[in-house]
Amino acid sequence: MTQPKTESKYRRVKCGDCGNEQILFLRAATAIKCQVCGATMAEPTGGLARLRGEIVGTVE
Ligand SMILES: [Zn+2]
Repeated sequence: MTQPKTESKYRRVKCGDCGNEQILFLRAATAIKCQVCGATMAEPTGGLARLRGEIVGTVE
């Protein structure tokens, strides 16, 4: 039997510019900007978004 495992599609990412932590959707269809400084934190690629900044955790 395969073990069911939660593969979260969300990551907690720290903004490289201001240090704000934000939850990003990995398959974001639009660019996601930091809510504090406006820096781009995720860019859509058609698949998994390209994340900018440091991934600090996974969100279930
Ligand atoms: Zn920021």
